Amino acid sequence: MTDLVLFGAPGAGKGTQAELMNEWLPVPRVSSGDLFRYNLSNNTELGRLAKTFMDRGELVPDDVTVAMVRERLQRPDCATGVILDGFPRTVAQAEALDALLADMGRRVDAVLFIQVSRESLLGRLAGRWTCPTCGAVYHEVFNPERSKGICDVDGAKLFQRQDDTPETQARRIDVYQEQTAPLEQYYRDQSVLVDIDGEQDIAMVQAQIKAAVQAL
Ligand code: ADP
Ligand code: AMP
Ligand code: ZN
Repeated sequence: MTDLVLFGAPGAGKGTQAELMNEWLPVPRVSSGDLFRYNLSNNTELGRLAKTFMDRGELVPDDVTVAMVRERLQRPDCATGVILDGFPRTVAQAEALDALLADMGRRVDAVLFIQVSRESLLGRLAGRWTCPTCGAVYHEVFNPERSKGICDVDGAKLFQRQDDTPETQARRIDVYQEQTAPLEQYYRDQSVLVDIDGEQDIAMVQAQIKAAVQAL
């Protein structure tokens, strides 16, 4: 059983690293942001509710977020573990996750804390392009696609996220500082936090994560 949390500010590289981890760790990536965007593209009630928060860079309320993730974790593909990306984002969510995993006889094995300066975060978010079909993430400068505007994996046309405007990006980082950063201490107290230097290039960050997970 391998239950991991990728923890870090918006733009730290969680999605990028999760995608690479799938090459050597056979457990699914569960991204709460992707689940909200999936609901939004299917125009569900949950999607419409989430959008009102996402567009402002605010967090979706804990109760709906936890319910959505709980449902996802109970699906069969998560039976042997999961890589969580973007969840938990509040202490209440972390407590709910602990309870949820405990019910399944599991626990958070490690929290990979990808640390990146605010300046780098803003540069990463500003140049981010995303694939609408497979979720692959690119960067204009740091991780460009092979053919401009086209996903390397499946050829879909890349887009920039609606919440990647400069105002929303700044707000998301502030919200992270206020509501999510306290989780660092929460997980240090549980002795599961692993510090990862997120300023390194993508491959170096991945190597550090891989070494940490293999040492578990
Ligand atoms: P998060 O999921 O934490 O919000 P992403 O994985 O979407 O972050 O990465 C944000 C942007 O930064 C993307 O454009 C990605 O290509 C780029 N990026 C990710 N990791 C690095 C890195 N180590 N160095 C430079 N750019 C990176
Ligand atoms: P992300 O894809 O992780 O950047 O998330 C995009 C947006 O979805 C966030 O700005 C929030 O509005 C919402 N969101 C994603 N995950 C959570 C979460 N765990 N708790 C609350 N809101 C979330
Ligand atoms: Zn794609």
